[in-house]
Amino acid sequence: MYKRVLLKISGEALSGDKKTNIDPDSVGKICDRIKVLHEKEVEIGVVVGGGNFWRGRDNHDMERTTSDYIGMLATVMNSLAVRDALEKRGVEAVVLAAIEMNEIAEKYTKRNMEKYLKEGKVVIFSAGTGHPYFSTDTCAALRACEMNAEVILVAKTIDGVYSADPKKDKDAIKYDTISYNEVLSKNLQAMDLASTVLCMENNIPLVVFSIFEPDNIVKAAEGETIGTLVK
Ligand code: UDP
Repeated sequence: MYKRVLLKISGEALSGDKKTNIDPDSVGKICDRIKVLHEKEVEIGVVVGGGNFWRGRDNHDMERTTSDYIGMLATVMNSLAVRDALEKRGVEAVVLAAIEMNEIAEKYTKRNMEKYLKEGKVVIFSAGTGHPYFSTDTCAALRACEMNAEVILVAKTIDGVYSADPKKDKDAIKYDTISYNEVLSKNLQAMDLASTVLCMENNIPLVVFSIFEPDNIVKAAEGETIGTLVK
């Protein structure tokens, strides 16, 4: 069992079948499993994406920086929903934001992140890195380094890393284990390239798995072989 993990949840995972907005049932199912991890005394950081509302890089016919700030704000909305669902389950959780917004969330610093983890709270990192042209994958890699996480649990709407997009190529094969170098050289979609490099440089493994089986969150944290291990 890992003792300290960073869980990355894509925004889409929070929206259920609708693929947009926040679906309380989907958030609830994920938070039920975070509660299980929390009861096992795992220290948990969470990064939530924003793709259920907005992705800056999509063609919004908008200046990119502005578009990325909208994306970062989307992650704040999702993070509040996750905190609310955790608190309803009796799990203490705190939202830290990479951008100042005092009424909504405390500003992220490494020191308050450490303080809250030590107090046994789930720490939700919102507003990404606070910088445009980055993603919540990069944020997950960065915060995992800063919190000395042993692993990043990457909960996606796909059940691992494939040699090609399995929706488009029926011959695509799923990897059980793969090296960072292979992910980079083949441009595979585990996390984005910048975050994969950061994980490689800091030797943080990734477990990529499907969120549609929410028990996977616990299995991955227990070190069970599920999805794809990138190391
Ligand atoms: N974003 C950003 N900087 C960051 C993190 C996120 O600009 O450090 C913006 C970016 O526009 C991104 C959006 O927030 O497209 C939502 O994040 P992401 O696409 O990573 O969400 P996911 O695909 O995981 O749901």
